[in-house]
Amino acid sequence: MRKPLVVANWKMNPSTLAKAKKLFNSIKEGIRKVRNVEIVICPPFLYLPQLVEFLYRCRKSQLNLGAQDCFWKEKGAFTGEISPLMLKNIGCQYVIIGHSERRRHFNETDEMINKKIKAALKAKLKPIFCVGETGEEREREETSKILKSQIENGLNKISKKEIKNIVIAYEPVWAIGTGKPCDPDEAMRMSLLIRKIIAQIYSRSISEALPTLYGGSVDSKNAAKYIKEARMNGLLVGGASLSSKEFIKILKAIS
Ligand code: PEP
Repeated sequence: MRKPLVVANWKMNPSTLAKAKKLFNSIKEGIRKVRNVEIVICPPFLYLPQLVEFLYRCRKSQLNLGAQDCFWKEKGAFTGEISPLMLKNIGCQYVIIGHSERRRHFNETDEMINKKIKAALKAKLKPIFCVGETGEEREREETSKILKSQIENGLNKISKKEIKNIVIAYEPVWAIGTGKPCDPDEAMRMSLLIRKIIAQIYSRSISEALPTLYGGSVDSKNAAKYIKEARMNGLLVGGASLSSKEFIKILKAIS
């Protein structure tokens, strides 16, 4: 069985470098007793260099670092942006792309997300490609249509070889940060739907090998259900990853 992958999305938290170091170190300590889980911490860009140092000083193979976004160019006149090449260079292995907060607050389109995924792959980063419907889209029973178009457009012209380095995170927007997680049965149906879409674009074997994550109000009480019942290959955790105690509990629940 594949090792579950748990990604911590710290978003724009914590508010100081000192707090970020403290959180990272207590997670690093806490995972001593966690077996068979791959963990990726995605802090704000600014904290990455310092946390990479910490990671190298006490290398734990199950712990990696990722970014929460990247731009699609390697370098140049793009004020305020960070390139995938820079992230790889500094020691990141993963990058979250297409998070619903970026789609909503920064008007990221499927086309922009597709360019970012291609650029991340070129820099040898593993994209964690987020998809998911809003509450209104779910009420209008448009979930399948939305997932299909997000996946088809986001993966436009990405080869069979490249898709093997991508992780897809199903994150229903209505479940993010709301304390209302998706029912594991529904999450399982979405995982099957994502695999069906991938099989139509690529092949059945590629869709079976594709790692899928669930994200949206995950905590230590519901975490195991998404792995055992919904048959997701891992989790994308936001709010609960800001408490080392709760985050370690999540990891223990699924390890
Ligand atoms: C997220 O931001 O990706 C997320 C899943 O957040 P939360 O766990 O807080 O719902």
